[in-house]
Amino acid sequence: TQAVHIIGGGLAGSEAAWQVAQAGVPVVIHEMRPKVATFAHRGGNFAEMVCSNSFRSDDDERNAVGLLHWEMRAAGGLIMEMAAAHRLPAGGALAVDREAFSAAVTARLLAHPLISTCCEEVTELPSSGSWIIATGPLTSGALAESIRAATGAEALAFFDAIAPIVYADTVDMSVAWMQSRYDKGETAEEQTAYMNCPMDRAQYEAFIDALLAAEKTEFHEGETASYFDGCLPIEVMAERGRETLRFGPMKPVGLTNAHAPGVKPYAVVQLRRDNKLGTLYNIVGFQTKMKYGAQTTVFKMIPGLQDARFARLGGIHRNTFLNSPTLLDNRMRLKSRPNLRFAGQITGVEGYVESAAMGLLAGRMAAAELLGRDLPPPPPETAMGALIHHITGGAEAKTFQPMNVNFGLFPPNDAKGGRRGRKDRYKAYTDRAKEAFLGWLG
Ligand code: FAD
Repeated sequence: TQAVHIIGGGLAGSEAAWQVAQAGVPVVIHEMRPKVATFAHRGGNFAEMVCSNSFRSDDDERNAVGLLHWEMRAAGGLIMEMAAAHRLPAGGALAVDREAFSAAVTARLLAHPLISTCCEEVTELPSSGSWIIATGPLTSGALAESIRAATGAEALAFFDAIAPIVYADTVDMSVAWMQSRYDKGETAEEQTAYMNCPMDRAQYEAFIDALLAAEKTEFHEGETASYFDGCLPIEVMAERGRETLRFGPMKPVGLTNAHAPGVKPYAVVQLRRDNKLGTLYNIVGFQTKMKYGAQTTVFKMIPGLQDARFARLGGIHRNTFLNSPTLLDNRMRLKSRPNLRFAGQITGVEGYVESAAMGLLAGRMAAAELLGRDLPPPPPETAMGALIHHITGGAEAKTFQPMNVNFGLFPPNDAKGGRRGRKDRYKAYTDRAKEAFLGWLG
């Protein structure tokens, strides 16, 4: 039988390889470490966790990442099995002994009769055969150039600039209002493109003080700040002058406060719709290196966001990722070269678990294809399905930035539990997801 070739033996590549081999199809993993290093990886094992040792919440009833764990276990995932075997006590989180975990993943893969490995840096996109590219946020330079040549320079980013994302239904619309600057946009969809939060002078001054005082994270060693020119964190803009934001992302022009038409706001924070479902909005221009705790405190000072909940907080990192909504089909294939699939963080998901989950799907889809079958993605009501639908079509392509799994990506589930508390509402989401996922697996 023809083999599937995987470039990158990280979280996604390891899970993909396992799924391909378990389907009875031979697989070759091409991994450059330890011959060629990255700034973050330390050794030569597969599935190395480069920073924290946590797979986050393991609550599969009320947490979206916990649900993703559940789905990966249901699908016989190697990453979750080895995480369970090397679990450390960490309350509700799934934390692991990082070294033992990646050693165990490596041993399992090497012991599989259908898996072979090749220690090499792949420097060019292969022209034939079935390939999965899972080279992650630190894809080597030569391969990244080859991907750029195939996709266009605009379609492959070398860093992310993530503005915080808010659940739309937690914005106080008695303070905020919907309007596009200068009332551009006529269709119903365009009219819900932006939410606006007004500030008076005292609120603006207090907000700038809080931004300047907030605790910030440092760039990692090797993650040079020069990468990020042209995409300044808001706190750096504020450091350049107290008025900079008021003439930048917070400018109050072209907008009329629907709740107080006669009062001109001193500054306006805009939120832009982030997905077609309209459940998520990002705060425009608010990429930041503030620590997560500081972000929630500072952003809740914005009028209208006092009770906001965040689907994800902001960040700026070295991160190679594709504009998947324009480039990939829903089988994770490059539309222009369908023998190439992408998986893991390079597809625009973010985090160990999400990356491994996308590896699981890519592996199953690639194996199915070689076996003459077509495997559709899981339904959007599932965590895996919500993620793959988001990156391959649900997200706004123009402003696409990496995404964590969260309930805002799921189709709303109002019929069940709309009037219940948040916890019951999430339980209704996970019940619906589990049933749908088992149906898909079957
Ligand atoms: P990786 O796990 O990075 O695997 C990619 C593999 O491809 C690597 O082994 C690499 O050596 C190999 N490779 C690259 N180019 C080539 C090539 N040309 N030929 C052959 N092999 C190649 N996520 C979290 O959930 N929690 C965290 O705390 C966290 N911290 C992070 C800190 C840093 C500094 C970075 C850079 C990322 C962090 N992430 C974190 C994100 C994390 O890296 C990903 O979530 C996860 O590792 C992505 O899995 P992946 O398989 O897509 O990529």
